Amino acid sequence: MTREVDLVIRGARVVSPDQIIEASVAIAGEHIVAVGHDDTMPPAQAEMRTDGLYLLPGAIDSHVHFRDPGYPNKETWKTGSAAAAMGGVTTVFEMPNTNPPTGTVEALRIKLKAAESSYCDFGIHGLLGDESIDQLEALLDAGVTSFKAFVGNTFGNLPAPTDGALLEGFEILAPLGIRTVVHAENSSILFRRQKHLQNAGRIDSMAHLAARPAVAEIEAINRVLTLAEWTGARVHIAHHSAADSLYLLREFKSRGVDVTAETCPQYLLLNTDHMLKLGGVMRVNPPIREARHNQPLWDALMDGTLDMIATDHAPHTPEEKTRESIWECDCGFPGVETQMPLMLTEVNRGRASLMDYVRWSSVAPARAWGLYGTKGVIAPGAHADIAFVDMARAGTLSQNKLQSISKISPWNGRAVQGYPLHTLLRGRFVMRDGKLVADAAGWGRSVKGIQKMPTPKPRNMEHYSSAIIDAPEGIPANAAPLVDAL
Ligand SMILES: [Zn+2]
Repeated sequence: MTREVDLVIRGARVVSPDQIIEASVAIAGEHIVAVGHDDTMPPAQAEMRTDGLYLLPGAIDSHVHFRDPGYPNKETWKTGSAAAAMGGVTTVFEMPNTNPPTGTVEALRIKLKAAESSYCDFGIHGLLGDESIDQLEALLDAGVTSFKAFVGNTFGNLPAPTDGALLEGFEILAPLGIRTVVHAENSSILFRRQKHLQNAGRIDSMAHLAARPAVAEIEAINRVLTLAEWTGARVHIAHHSAADSLYLLREFKSRGVDVTAETCPQYLLLNTDHMLKLGGVMRVNPPIREARHNQPLWDALMDGTLDMIATDHAPHTPEEKTRESIWECDCGFPGVETQMPLMLTEVNRGRASLMDYVRWSSVAPARAWGLYGTKGVIAPGAHADIAFVDMARAGTLSQNKLQSISKISPWNGRAVQGYPLHTLLRGRFVMRDGKLVADAAGWGRSVKGIQKMPTPKPRNMEHYSSAIIDAPEGIPANAAPLVDAL
């Protein structure tokens, strides 16, 4: 006799990167136990008919800022993760520019405590900076899944790591197989240009773009990928914004460097035309660029140069986003809740398939962070993380309805078609019928325990800092220069 399961979902269309199949899904506890023909489903405690809906593996957002600890006026773990649940996002990776920054074990413990109220599963990016180089292994032991290097400056004003520290960080992380997210902009270019613009009295929104030209991104990506190739370290380029730097991703990928890259809906769908109307609301790093960048970024997603969609969910209060001078408007805006309807709208327009979308939103991030198999797929043995999507449902995005504290968004008033209707996280609904399941707060947990990065491939280890400290045997400490001996 077949054991009774908790839930059978009947009559859905299950989406993977390769196919969309009509199937039913059986769930026991936190896991999917069967996917197949309706007749083959085991008996269940509860049944759910989902005719007309698509089942997508829950989205995995590699890039969110939940501001907690440090800035609870902007966001908390509870509000940020509620926004994720409402957006069909079941796992997030949270950034370290909180206060305190996640560069010590003590700071990590404070963050993990705050994350106990989470509606979604999560990974924590620890901070890779000059001050935290000697903390990387301890941070990994204490629960970070990955690291973030703010090579370009942004909110929090954490100093960019020196190139020496970045190289050394990669030397430590390459043999461990751990991936580092890089905010790739050249800080010294940004600082000088911003100073010139400020001295000239520019406070308009376009001055922000003028301060951060694409060359700052090209240069930083080139430098970071050079260090990654040399050391064998895994890296992830955050919020790729420029058409001009895509060639570097193609080049270094073709050379076998394990680099993954994300872009965000704002770089695909918005440009300076919107910035002229919305001003500081759209201030974000890297900046949203001219319209000529939009289509090449989309093409790069389609051909795999860019691997995934993330959001850079970076909330601030409406007051902090609408000051007179662009330099006083905080950088970033919320996004984790609006990503799925925005991207599904593009699918409905025929710009990509649902299978493409699942590859970008779930499969690629699951692979990049070592979660694939347990997450990123609707198959027996995987976590029951499912976004139930209604592709016919149309509506208008409204900043006032966001779960985020940051009720200000460049997407406000935008017409969309395609919404997540329910979100299931490890067998439990965190959003149902478009409504947050309030008592699911705290159901989210760290993915550290299921993370399994592929075998590390360090390179040039004989040149690592750790290998050059001691003189080779047989060479006296103060050996005379060879030329004198001749
Ligand atoms: Zn960010």
